[in-house]
Amino acid sequence: MAKYNDSKCRLCRREGSKLMLKGDRCFSEKCSFDQRPYAPGQHGRARKKASDYAQQLREKQKVRRIYGVLEAQFRNYFIKADKAKGITGHNLLTTLERRLDNVIYRLGFAQSRQQARQLVRHGLFTLNGRKVNIPSLLVRVGDAVEVPEKKRKVPVLAKAAEVIGRRGSPSWLETDAAAFRGHVRALPQREDIQTPINEDLIVELYSK
Ligand code: SF4
Repeated sequence: MAKYNDSKCRLCRREGSKLMLKGDRCFSEKCSFDQRPYAPGQHGRARKKASDYAQQLREKQKVRRIYGVLEAQFRNYFIKADKAKGITGHNLLTTLERRLDNVIYRLGFAQSRQQARQLVRHGLFTLNGRKVNIPSLLVRVGDAVEVPEKKRKVPVLAKAAEVIGRRGSPSWLETDAAAFRGHVRALPQREDIQTPINEDLIVELYSK
């Protein structure tokens, strides 16, 4: 699937929700969604009643864009979530939360998930002492993420404490910003995900 290279802020406006794709800018007055909270394009302001299918599709696209996952990959996550014990929608979201790029973002070592993905691909982190460069890797309880000493000069990594102070850290993770280290204390639960998402719509979409 082609990579999306257009404006990230357009995606927020398309989905009608702040997807927090641009780090600092999302918390500032420059946020395009705050300035123009309607869909992009000539007819963006027109009020249209969305069909059930359109709502389900938009919710799936929203989650896919938040976590930066391609369509085929997202469907695979859904298939596994559906086969696993428990509530499918919850399984889907908590699995996405466990992705290494999301964990790096949540730990405050990156301003956005996209930046986290880039940092992971560049091999800036170790997982349990071993170098990793696979953003989709799923973390487990007890896993330790660390920036090796010689990689700590990258400016964004040193801002973890500041980033966490601004947006907070989920209870299932623990950041030791001074030591450039993070720790997975528990598996994420549905209630740990504060982003407004209606996962039931995604389940309905894929259950057709
Ligand atoms: Fe979305 Fe962030 Fe752009 Fe605002 S600044 S529209 S939240 S990506």
